[in-house]
Amino acid sequence: MNRLGVFLIALSFIGLSFSAFCQQRKGFCGAKPMPIEQIRMMGIPSYSSCDVINRVERTLQISLHIAVDSLGETNISNAQIDGALQQLNIDFAPSGLQFVYCFRDTMPNDRFDSLGVYWDYNESIQMTSIHFEPNTINLYLVGTLGIDALPDVAGLAGAGGIVMIEKSSYGFGSLVQAHEFGHYFSLAHTFEDAGMELVDGSNCAIAGDGICDTAADPDPEGNADEECNYSGSVMQDPNGDWYVPPTDNIMSYYPCGRRFTVGQYNRMIAFYLNALSYLW
Ligand SMILES: [Zn+2]
Repeated sequence: MNRLGVFLIALSFIGLSFSAFCQQRKGFCGAKPMPIEQIRMMGIPSYSSCDVINRVERTLQISLHIAVDSLGETNISNAQIDGALQQLNIDFAPSGLQFVYCFRDTMPNDRFDSLGVYWDYNESIQMTSIHFEPNTINLYLVGTLGIDALPDVAGLAGAGGIVMIEKSSYGFGSLVQAHEFGHYFSLAHTFEDAGMELVDGSNCAIAGDGICDTAADPDPEGNADEECNYSGSVMQDPNGDWYVPPTDNIMSYYPCGRRFTVGQYNRMIAFYLNALSYLW
């Protein structure tokens, strides 16, 4: 069984209802994004020919919940916290969506700081129910999210308005936050259904991430050389066309860049307007 299979079994065993779950650029990521069909039923198109971002000027509120260790230390600096928000606002600036911290607390139960170790249904539910501010994005900063079978998990985003990120992956320059917020706003990985999306774009609305201005991506491992050229083992799609994956895309797993496409911005905006009215 491959690692994705192990992950999916682990996810169903844990019983979490997160719509997406992943670590980024540490070696392995599994995800369970909202199915493309579900997105389409909400009236959100695939943006096959967009060349303009449908900006919406809104500032959304983040509630920050910070776990402490057994000594009561948060192990994160204000500079990290401020830098992370600054980076998030840079990454989302083209969409018009911006973010502020509206609430901050520390979580005295130190088991939440080692959420990977104690990561079961009860611990997660306990954490996200005790520490939750309605009508905001609830962002949990913890020491470890990884578990033995999945040691590299650095972040996840889920239904109901939550995002979890390891403190070591939080700060200015980190890609994890932008990636997890992408999931929060319904984006899938570019490599979703790896190998099913065709290079010529003919099935881009129903395969891959369901967004047509992100190139077909066959590689959930994000293999790229030092110059960010794709170096995975799957070179051609079923038609024999050569892959040129989006190695600079935030929702890929290549370690090479930080970019959302116009289509990705538009899907996030549409999802915000259609499905996240609790943030309005
Ligand atoms: Zn992901």
